[in-house]
Amino acid sequence: MSTPLTVEPGTRPAPVFLAGPAKRLLIGGDWEPAADGRTFETLDPATGQVLARAAEAGERDVDLAVAAARRAFEDPSWADLTPYRRSRVLLQIADVVEEHAEELAVLDSLDMGGPLWMTRWLVDHSVEVFRHYAGWPTKIYGTTAPADPGAFHFTLRQPLGVVAAITAWNGPVLQLAWKLGPALATGNTVVAKPAAWSPLSALRIGELLSATDLPPGVVNILTGGATTGEALTRHPGVDKISFTGSLAVGKRILEVSSRDLKRVTLELGGKSPTIVFDDADLEAAAKGAVAGFAQGSGEGCVAGTRIFVQESVHERFRALLLREMRAYALGDPFHPDTRMGPLASAQHFERVASYLDLAREEGGTLVTAGDARDLYMPPTLIENVGADARVVREEIFGPVAALLTFTDTDDAIRQGNDTVYGLAGSVWTTDLERAHRVARGLRAGTVWVNTYAEMSAGTVPFGGFKQSGIGREHGTEVLDAYTETKTVMIRL
Ligand code: NAD
Repeated sequence: MSTPLTVEPGTRPAPVFLAGPAKRLLIGGDWEPAADGRTFETLDPATGQVLARAAEAGERDVDLAVAAARRAFEDPSWADLTPYRRSRVLLQIADVVEEHAEELAVLDSLDMGGPLWMTRWLVDHSVEVFRHYAGWPTKIYGTTAPADPGAFHFTLRQPLGVVAAITAWNGPVLQLAWKLGPALATGNTVVAKPAAWSPLSALRIGELLSATDLPPGVVNILTGGATTGEALTRHPGVDKISFTGSLAVGKRILEVSSRDLKRVTLELGGKSPTIVFDDADLEAAAKGAVAGFAQGSGEGCVAGTRIFVQESVHERFRALLLREMRAYALGDPFHPDTRMGPLASAQHFERVASYLDLAREEGGTLVTAGDARDLYMPPTLIENVGADARVVREEIFGPVAALLTFTDTDDAIRQGNDTVYGLAGSVWTTDLERAHRVARGLRAGTVWVNTYAEMSAGTVPFGGFKQSGIGREHGTEVLDAYTETKTVMIRL
């Protein structure tokens, strides 16, 4: 294990981890090349340079990793671990991640282009998530049920088995922590598959786990893309898929996993509304609205990409929005003044740019706060488009939002809900009654009032209504996602 990395403000770091031959797969505690020798490149979107090569796992590797996870699941070193010791392992994981927080944040910034202040925050949050889940093993209770005097009926909560944790590229350490924390706290074993555009931090965490008491094979890491993910989804030895990614792939996972009725949690996309009433603190609302769609280059599932402002304050609020958008400095992820780095890849940039062309074709007007260059895209507002425009209905996943208006509370709720998604939303008002009505009325998994994208490490449930997903991560609800309830009925 190396000494923790520190970054001098404004310099471009080169972690030692990037040096050396192609990264391998973590299977049963050993680092192995892909069985067929395939590898792929992961690129730095800020420079276009190759950061590293990683093994591309195929079906044979998936077989081996799932078998290793199954052995570890059944091995007494994990299956019979006391709740106290399982807690301690999670605390150890939190500690090693914290000790290497800077290095992990740097790897994510290099790999997916997010500014360092943001990836630092995401890694710090992940440390808190592991600590949160360290509290669970000692608090997972069953129930006793009323029964006649000659019987004793009770329930046990038991782990599911082998969990495939398939994640998106936009928050690599965080998404891994959100899945490893609850899966391990409840006694499952894991085969993790990070996204092909940002696999490095997961591989580094795989190395760091060797400094903890986690038995080999409890966490396995396979790198690769759609083919690797699909092989995991299809594998009969996988009991549960915990997936974070797009709606299209989520649907595919449901289809494939239905063949053997795997348990599935889906954390998918969104087209979340930001609703600004005329009585709101408009300056704060403008800051929140722009952060809501531009922070992290808009590459966030909860991005507030449909901004609804009450007609009476439209002009005033629009001016504040534009002023706030201009404050978003594009630049190198490692420069301290940078608010937005490059988009995650050339392919993704093309996709986002194609939506800007589409917005023009759909009759929309674009207002941008700066010029696009290389893979950098400034915050962009789309105006004069109707509710049926594709740019208002589809997830763009870049720093692009539509500005629309509403008349009253009912109209705001109706328009806010006019989407197939239901991940999140925010409402900005000083009227308590309005805030409550909108919070209840929005069909979304999380509603923020006078704030945006606030998170709490593990304590509150997170997930989507409608086509934003199935199930919840965190909160007490997470126990249902990672355990089966068994009923035991004893005739005394
Ligand atoms: P994606 O769906 O393309 O890929 C996600 C993961 O699935 C990757 O690891 C990918 O390799 C894998 N994959 C691709 N095809 C697969 C298949 N057929 N079977 C199994 N696995 C497969 O998504 P992305 O482009 O990486 O990420 C962006 C999407 O993720 C956006 O829609 C965003 O909203 C969503 N997201 C959701 C949340 C949430 O918590 N709700 C968080 C972050 C991102």
